[in-house]
Amino acid sequence: MSIRTCFRPLIAALLCLGATSAALAWAPLGHALVGELAQRHLDSKARAEVAILLAGEPTPTLAGVASWADDLRNTDPERFKATSRWHYVNAKGGGCDFDLARDCPDGDCVTGALDRQLTILADRKQPLEARRDALKFVVHLVGDEHQPMHAGNRTDSGGNRFQVSLRTPLQPEAYARKSYVDGVMATNLHSVWDYYILASRGLVLGDYADALDTSAATPFAPRPDAGVLLEWAAGSCRLIDAHGVYPGDDQHKMDHVYLDKFRPLAEARVQLAGKRLAQLLNQALGAQAPSH
Ligand SMILES: [Zn+2]
Repeated sequence: MSIRTCFRPLIAALLCLGATSAALAWAPLGHALVGELAQRHLDSKARAEVAILLAGEPTPTLAGVASWADDLRNTDPERFKATSRWHYVNAKGGGCDFDLARDCPDGDCVTGALDRQLTILADRKQPLEARRDALKFVVHLVGDEHQPMHAGNRTDSGGNRFQVSLRTPLQPEAYARKSYVDGVMATNLHSVWDYYILASRGLVLGDYADALDTSAATPFAPRPDAGVLLEWAAGSCRLIDAHGVYPGDDQHKMDHVYLDKFRPLAEARVQLAGKRLAQLLNQALGAQAPSH
């Protein structure tokens, strides 16, 4: 899908190219939450490996690198262009039965990219730099795959072309303020899911992670194969209709009622993504990693 609308409210306006850029992910808050939740459930070996791989990063934590793959848009446009299809998958046949050959040609979709980056991350023979970038991609892509609007089957670019008038006290960053008039934000359903639902909880990262980190120990899980990763995307896709995520083709006005209604679902997706990310990293880097 060709995703058009830029919405990065927590990123400085100068880092965003404006209203014609792409919204390709949970906004930074959502990605950071996934990273923070996973970081809390790494085993000691995986935590040490993550520290080695991220040494030198401005913020050497999973939360700190969680939006790196989106930030490539500005820091490395060529690389971003080459990887832009890694952030989503779209079921072109309708329904939620993704088909790798049809929906993920050349492996250029979120599940194909995640599969490859997991392999690089776990391969000690790869250069550290490659494994570092693989880690950053894995953190990001696991988050994207659990955002329902990144794994849909409609032809509206993951909700980017489903325009919405959202009445909200949450003001956007400067670059988007021209779309915010009298408390109403002219946006789209993708951005509502990327940012507004979670941001309207009104918690900063650490407090929000505390609130969502309700699970006990995260059990070890084996490396998921491509089919399992595809099923994770199907799980996101099925939520769209099962929960009535689309408010109806003639209902393009919404307010806190929509945000409040879907916040538990969005938070559950963040929780699941955090748990699965921890399991993936413990599998690839932890005490039970195959190469140890
Ligand atoms: Zn993304």
